[in-house]
Amino acid sequence: MKKPLIGISGNTLRDTSGAYVDLIRSYVNQDYVRSIEEAGGIPIIIPFTENLEQAKETIDIVDGLLLTGGHDVYPLNYGEEPLRGIGDVFPERDQFDFALLAAAEARNIPVFAICRGCQIVNVYRGGSLYQDLPYDKNCTIKHSQNQTPSLPTHTVDIEPDSKLAQIIGTTTWITNSHHHQTCRNIGESLVVTGRAKDGTVEALEDTNRPWFVATQFHPEMMHVKDVHAKTLFKAFVDATKEVN
Ligand code: MN
Repeated sequence: MKKPLIGISGNTLRDTSGAYVDLIRSYVNQDYVRSIEEAGGIPIIIPFTENLEQAKETIDIVDGLLLTGGHDVYPLNYGEEPLRGIGDVFPERDQFDFALLAAAEARNIPVFAICRGCQIVNVYRGGSLYQDLPYDKNCTIKHSQNQTPSLPTHTVDIEPDSKLAQIIGTTTWITNSHHHQTCRNIGESLVVTGRAKDGTVEALEDTNRPWFVATQFHPEMMHVKDVHAKTLFKAFVDATKEVN
Protein backbone atom coordinates (compact mmCIF):
# COMPACT_ATOMS: atom_id res chain seq x y z
CA MET A 1 0.00 0.00 0.00
CA LYS A 2 1.28 3.45 -0.91
CA LYS A 3 2.18 5.72 1.96
CA PRO A 4 -0.17 8.70 2.33
CA LEU A 5 1.02 12.17 1.37
CA ILE A 6 0.65 14.70 4.16
CA GLY A 7 0.63 18.38 3.24
CA ILE A 8 2.41 20.55 5.81
CA SER A 9 1.56 24.25 5.67
CA GLY A 10 4.70 26.29 5.07
CA ASN A 11 5.98 29.50 6.54
CA THR A 12 8.60 32.01 5.44
CA LEU A 13 11.81 32.95 7.19
CA ARG A 14 13.62 36.24 6.68
CA ASP A 15 17.35 35.51 6.64
CA THR A 16 19.61 38.49 7.26
CA SER A 17 22.66 36.47 8.26
CA GLY A 18 25.69 35.51 6.27
CA ALA A 19 26.15 36.75 2.75
CA TYR A 20 22.51 37.73 2.26
CA VAL A 21 21.02 41.05 3.26
CA ASP A 22 17.35 40.13 3.15
CA LEU A 23 16.60 36.67 1.81
CA ILE A 24 13.14 35.10 2.18
CA ARG A 25 13.21 31.33 2.64
CA SER A 26 10.31 28.83 2.51
CA TYR A 27 10.43 26.43 5.42
CA VAL A 28 8.73 24.26 8.05
CA ASN A 29 10.24 23.09 11.33
CA GLN A 30 11.88 19.70 10.95
CA ASP A 31 9.87 18.35 13.90
CA TYR A 32 6.74 18.29 11.70
CA VAL A 33 8.58 16.46 8.92
CA ARG A 34 10.08 13.90 11.29
CA SER A 35 6.79 13.29 13.07
CA ILE A 36 4.97 12.56 9.80
CA GLU A 37 7.78 10.31 8.57
CA GLU A 38 7.88 8.32 11.80
CA ALA A 39 4.10 7.90 11.69
CA GLY A 40 4.30 6.32 8.23
CA GLY A 41 3.40 9.27 6.01
CA ILE A 42 5.31 11.13 3.33
CA PRO A 43 5.61 14.80 4.28
CA ILE A 44 4.94 17.32 1.51
CA ILE A 45 5.84 20.89 2.41
CA ILE A 46 3.27 23.30 0.95
CA PRO A 47 5.22 26.51 0.42
CA PHE A 48 3.58 29.78 1.40
CA THR A 49 2.09 31.60 -1.58
CA GLU A 50 -0.26 34.51 -2.15
CA ASN A 51 -1.70 32.53 -5.08
CA LEU A 52 -4.65 31.05 -3.21
CA GLU A 53 -5.89 29.04 -6.19
CA GLN A 54 -2.53 27.31 -6.33
CA ALA A 55 -2.72 26.66 -2.59
CA LYS A 56 -6.12 25.03 -3.05
CA GLU A 57 -4.90 22.93 -5.97
CA THR A 58 -2.04 21.64 -3.83
CA ILE A 59 -4.58 20.13 -1.44
CA ASP A 60 -5.90 18.01 -4.34
CA ILE A 61 -2.69 15.97 -4.32
CA VAL A 62 -2.42 15.25 -0.59
CA ASP A 63 -4.30 12.87 1.70
CA GLY A 64 -4.20 14.99 4.85
CA LEU A 65 -3.39 18.53 5.98
CA LEU A 66 -1.12 19.47 8.87
CA LEU A 67 -1.55 23.15 9.79
CA THR A 68 1.55 24.40 11.58
CA GLY A 69 2.55 27.09 14.05
CA GLY A 70 3.87 30.57 13.45
CA HIS A 71 2.79 34.19 13.72
CA ASP A 72 -0.18 35.56 15.64
CA VAL A 73 -3.43 35.53 13.69
CA TYR A 74 -4.27 38.98 12.28
CA PRO A 75 -6.83 40.32 14.80
CA LEU A 76 -8.95 42.08 12.17
CA ASN A 77 -9.76 38.56 10.93
CA TYR A 78 -11.81 38.08 14.10
CA GLY A 79 -13.12 41.61 14.28
CA GLU A 80 -10.66 43.13 16.75
CA GLU A 81 -8.17 45.96 16.56
CA PRO A 82 -4.61 45.01 17.60
CA LEU A 83 -4.03 45.31 21.34
CA ARG A 84 -0.67 46.21 22.81
CA GLY A 85 0.13 42.62 23.77
CA ILE A 86 -0.11 41.14 20.30
CA GLY A 87 3.00 39.78 18.57
CA ASP A 88 4.03 39.84 14.92
CA VAL A 89 1.29 39.06 12.41
CA PHE A 90 1.43 37.76 8.83
CA PRO A 91 -2.01 38.44 7.32
CA GLU A 92 -1.09 37.01 3.92
CA ARG A 93 -0.30 33.69 5.59
CA ASP A 94 -3.69 33.77 7.34
CA GLN A 95 -5.29 33.88 3.88
CA PHE A 96 -3.01 31.06 2.68
CA ASP A 97 -3.94 28.89 5.69
CA PHE A 98 -7.65 29.68 5.26
CA ALA A 99 -7.41 28.60 1.61
CA LEU A 100 -5.69 25.31 2.54
CA LEU A 101 -8.31 24.66 5.20
CA ALA A 102 -11.20 25.45 2.87
CA ALA A 103 -9.84 23.04 0.27
CA ALA A 104 -9.21 20.33 2.88
CA GLU A 105 -12.74 20.71 4.22
CA ALA A 106 -14.17 20.55 0.70
CA ARG A 107 -12.48 17.17 0.25
CA ASN A 108 -13.19 16.15 3.86
CA ILE A 109 -9.61 14.91 4.32
CA PRO A 110 -8.13 14.62 7.82
CA VAL A 111 -6.91 17.89 9.33
CA PHE A 112 -4.45 18.16 12.21
CA ALA A 113 -3.86 21.74 13.37
CA ILE A 114 -1.15 22.73 15.84
CA CYS A 115 -0.64 25.96 17.84
CA ARG A 116 -1.25 28.80 15.37
CA GLY A 117 -3.00 26.15 13.27
CA CYS A 118 -5.45 25.57 16.13
CA GLN A 119 -6.08 29.32 16.33
CA ILE A 120 -6.47 29.58 12.54
CA VAL A 121 -9.09 26.83 12.60
CA ASN A 122 -11.02 28.63 15.34
CA VAL A 123 -10.90 32.01 13.58
CA TYR A 124 -11.80 30.44 10.22
CA ARG A 125 -14.95 29.06 11.84
CA GLY A 126 -15.88 32.48 13.26
CA GLY A 127 -14.28 32.16 16.71
CA SER A 128 -11.96 34.62 18.41
CA LEU A 129 -8.70 34.69 20.38
CA TYR A 130 -7.25 36.34 23.43
CA GLN A 131 -4.52 38.44 21.81
CA ASP A 132 -2.24 37.89 24.80
CA LEU A 133 -2.54 35.64 27.85
CA PRO A 134 -3.02 38.46 30.44
CA TYR A 135 -6.24 39.53 28.66
CA ASP A 136 -7.77 36.26 29.90
CA LYS A 137 -8.31 36.94 33.61
CA ASN A 138 -8.60 33.21 34.35
CA CYS A 139 -5.20 32.44 32.84
CA THR A 140 -2.82 31.84 35.73
CA ILE A 141 -0.57 29.13 34.29
CA LYS A 142 2.69 29.74 32.43
CA HIS A 143 1.95 28.87 28.81
CA SER A 144 5.16 30.28 27.29
CA GLN A 145 7.63 27.87 28.82
CA ASN A 146 10.61 29.38 26.96
CA GLN A 147 12.85 26.36 27.34
CA THR A 148 13.48 22.89 25.90
CA PRO A 149 10.72 22.57 23.23
CA SER A 150 9.81 18.98 24.08
CA LEU A 151 9.62 19.42 27.87
CA PRO A 152 6.17 18.64 29.31
CA THR A 153 5.28 21.52 31.65
CA HIS A 154 1.52 21.66 32.22
CA THR A 155 -1.43 19.31 32.53
CA VAL A 156 -4.14 19.06 29.88
CA ASP A 157 -7.47 17.54 30.95
CA ILE A 158 -9.12 15.81 28.00
CA GLU A 159 -12.84 15.16 27.50
CA PRO A 160 -13.41 11.41 27.99
CA ASP A 161 -15.63 11.02 24.92
CA SER A 162 -13.33 12.94 22.57
CA LYS A 163 -11.39 11.49 19.67
CA LEU A 164 -8.22 12.70 21.36
CA ALA A 165 -8.94 10.67 24.52
CA GLN A 166 -9.89 7.63 22.44
CA ILE A 167 -6.63 7.88 20.51
CA ILE A 168 -4.20 8.30 23.39
CA GLY A 169 -6.19 6.19 25.85
CA THR A 170 -6.19 8.66 28.75
CA THR A 171 -7.87 11.88 29.86
CA THR A 172 -4.71 13.45 31.28
CA TRP A 173 -1.70 14.51 29.26
CA ILE A 174 1.25 16.52 30.52
CA THR A 175 2.23 18.63 27.51
CA ASN A 176 4.63 21.33 26.47
CA SER A 177 3.29 24.88 26.05
CA HIS A 178 4.59 27.50 23.63
CA HIS A 179 1.85 30.05 23.14
CA HIS A 180 0.94 33.55 24.29
CA GLN A 181 -2.48 33.60 22.62
CA THR A 182 -5.43 31.28 23.23
CA CYS A 183 -8.87 30.55 21.85
CA ARG A 184 -11.64 32.73 23.33
CA ASN A 185 -15.03 32.32 21.64
CA ILE A 186 -15.21 28.94 19.94
CA GLY A 187 -16.03 28.74 16.25
CA GLU A 188 -18.86 26.93 14.53
CA SER A 189 -18.99 23.11 14.77
CA LEU A 190 -15.94 23.03 17.04
CA VAL A 191 -15.90 21.58 20.55
CA VAL A 192 -13.29 22.12 23.23
CA THR A 193 -11.84 18.69 24.08
CA GLY A 194 -8.80 19.70 26.15
CA ARG A 195 -8.12 22.39 28.73
CA ALA A 196 -5.23 23.36 30.98
CA LYS A 197 -5.96 23.55 34.71
CA ASP A 198 -6.71 27.29 34.40
CA GLY A 199 -9.34 26.57 31.74
CA THR A 200 -7.19 27.63 28.80
CA VAL A 201 -8.27 25.88 25.61
CA GLU A 202 -5.66 23.29 24.63
CA ALA A 203 -7.56 21.08 22.15
CA LEU A 204 -10.44 21.44 19.69
CA GLU A 205 -12.25 18.95 17.50
CA ASP A 206 -14.89 19.05 14.80
CA THR A 207 -16.91 15.96 15.60
CA ASN A 208 -18.90 16.27 12.36
CA ARG A 209 -15.84 15.41 10.32
CA PRO A 210 -14.02 12.07 10.10
CA TRP A 211 -10.75 13.36 11.58
CA PHE A 212 -10.35 16.99 12.62
CA VAL A 213 -8.17 17.61 15.68
CA ALA A 214 -6.41 20.79 16.83
CA THR A 215 -3.97 21.22 19.70
CA GLN A 216 -2.64 24.42 21.21
CA PHE A 217 0.45 22.57 22.44
CA HIS A 218 3.12 21.08 20.18
CA PRO A 219 2.99 17.26 19.99
CA GLU A 220 5.45 17.32 17.08
CA MET A 221 8.10 18.73 19.43
CA MET A 222 7.27 16.12 22.09
CA HIS A 223 7.28 13.27 19.60
CA VAL A 224 10.82 12.11 20.32
CA LYS A 225 10.09 11.02 23.87
CA ASP A 226 6.32 11.14 24.29
CA VAL A 227 4.26 8.04 23.53
CA HIS A 228 0.97 9.99 23.35
CA ALA A 229 2.43 12.33 20.74
CA LYS A 230 3.60 9.37 18.67
CA THR A 231 0.19 7.75 18.97
CA LEU A 232 -1.59 10.93 17.92
CA PHE A 233 0.54 11.38 14.78
CA LYS A 234 0.09 7.71 13.92
CA ALA A 235 -3.69 8.04 14.26
CA PHE A 236 -3.66 11.11 11.99
CA VAL A 237 -1.58 9.43 9.29
CA ASP A 238 -3.62 6.22 9.54
CA ALA A 239 -6.84 8.23 9.11
CA THR A 240 -5.52 9.68 5.85
CA LYS A 241 -5.27 6.16 4.44
CA GLU A 242 -9.06 6.07 4.37
CA VAL A 243 -9.09 8.93 1.83
CA ASN A 244 -9.79 7.88 -1.73
MN1 MN B 1 -0.64 25.86 27.21
